[in-house]
Amino acid sequence: MDSAEPTERGQTGPKSAPNWLTPTHIGLVVVITLVFASVGVMMVLLVAMSGSSGLGWRSFIDGLTSWRTMAFLLGCPLLCAGTWVGVRALQRRLAWDRRTGLLMLLLAWMLVCTASALAAFGTGSLLLLQFAWGGLLPLGTGFITHGLTRRVGTAPHCSHCGYEFDSELDRCPECGAAWRRRGGVIEGRPHRSRVLVGTGVALLVLGVLLTIRPLLGQAFSPLVPTRFLIAQASGRDTWSPSDWTELMSRRLSGEQVQRLADGLLDRRWHTGRLDPSASGWLEKEIVGNTLAATTRERYFREMVMMHLRGPSRARVGERVKVEALVDDRSTPFAGLGARVLFAGFRVNGQAIESTRLDRLASAYDFDEWSVKRKPGAALPSVEVAAERTGVLVIEVQAWILYGPEGLLGWGRAWNDDGSPLLPEDPLWVEVVHLRHEISVE
Ligand SMILES: [Zn+2]
Repeated sequence: MDSAEPTERGQTGPKSAPNWLTPTHIGLVVVITLVFASVGVMMVLLVAMSGSSGLGWRSFIDGLTSWRTMAFLLGCPLLCAGTWVGVRALQRRLAWDRRTGLLMLLLAWMLVCTASALAAFGTGSLLLLQFAWGGLLPLGTGFITHGLTRRVGTAPHCSHCGYEFDSELDRCPECGAAWRRRGGVIEGRPHRSRVLVGTGVALLVLGVLLTIRPLLGQAFSPLVPTRFLIAQASGRDTWSPSDWTELMSRRLSGEQVQRLADGLLDRRWHTGRLDPSASGWLEKEIVGNTLAATTRERYFREMVMMHLRGPSRARVGERVKVEALVDDRSTPFAGLGARVLFAGFRVNGQAIESTRLDRLASAYDFDEWSVKRKPGAALPSVEVAAERTGVLVIEVQAWILYGPEGLLGWGRAWNDDGSPLLPEDPLWVEVVHLRHEISVE
């Protein structure tokens, strides 16, 4: 194997400029680097959208402008270019043929991108890379076919049986194939590689396992690290009952409990509601008071969030309607419940007594979707005529109580003197003051 670097065209000088620095090669590298960078962007978008703060576009932009996103976007193409130089050097050193070099380069790129995604976005990014692992399948197939069909050297041989070409003859003396036909003779002799085939098989197996892991459920759960299970449970689209069961069977450290609680709150924020098993676990930690104060506050604060809805502008004489409604993220039939003491609307500082709810209300009374399904029901609202130009101020005051269902009950909401009738020892009381301004022209 003296012709270490087989020159594709025998015509070009054997020791001219390095033959890999051609426009085709450089173009290829630029294109592939761009592909990887766009995979990076895609991942950043997914990670940004599953961020823990803000809603929709806000968290999306926050995520895009975070330093790790920037580091990933700039660092990944640079690392890919560096890997390319490194693999080419290795290729010359170890005398790999062109196809082996290309396959190794693709493999190295996959590893580099996975490692940088891990470094930039943590274990959660592995979930987003799940689709990229499918790329191991064509790569493994490439290694296997190349390992089986690889040829070395430049001497011509029979393309049919591999017999050494003899320029004196028209036909192969071994198999009788016509040598003068196009494609009758081929450069190099076949030289299979067990290492390449073995690598290909390993990549195929790995690719299949990683890609179908979610379908295998329980079988693989015990092998998955706790970090990963927590990330899986916190993800918006990655909930898996078998992984949850596995996670619950493990002893979690205080730090892990905290991380899982924060992850579940992220998921609740984005999906609107947790499934009963996750919600039940979170409730237990809340009642046991094991979580950080900020997490506890977030648990209640984000469960039922009241807001006002109405026009921001009106003409004199127009009748305007303002409604009170909630984003309800509580899990139905959970042990912890919420009640609303709704003190009613005030218009320009004047209380509208008829809008006060005398009994404890349910979050469903303020939930648009639930109200629509009840015949004759409507969201608490106030209707006023805008009589003169200026600003019409609509205010609302309410107490949202959280506690075990049994403690909260369904009784009266107010004392005779008009003060709120709060139960003995609720887990959390959220005092809500809302203000909506309508400018009248
Ligand atoms: Zn032959």
